[in-house]
Amino acid sequence: MHFFFEIPVFIVLYGFLGFYSAVIIILTHFIPTIDYVMLRLNIKGKLHRKLFHNIFTTAIAGVLLYFFFGIMIAILGLMNVVFHFILDLDEYGIAIFFPFSGYRLRLKRK
Ligand SMILES: [Zn+2]
Repeated sequence: MHFFFEIPVFIVLYGFLGFYSAVIIILTHFIPTIDYVMLRLNIKGKLHRKLFHNIFTTAIAGVLLYFFFGIMIAILGLMNVVFHFILDLDEYGIAIFFPFSGYRLRLKRK
């Protein structure tokens, strides 16, 4: 589902910023996907929607993006991570304050 939504985002970014910047920002969207891949590979599967789906990992990613690629890539990349989080707001949700709180940001189905 994430991949599907990132196709139009990539096309827009490519049009405005060029291939290189677009690729970096798209890859940023898939940073939280790492703990999904870990779940699939049975590596610390319980950390799914936790380890890379929280504001602290996201902040570290933002600092690294800023350091390596500059402020514009950092801001757009972080916006794309927030977009990832929004797409994950189903009944399972994300542990947005992990590891300090188990609280899950989610949209409950009624
Ligand atoms: Zn996710």
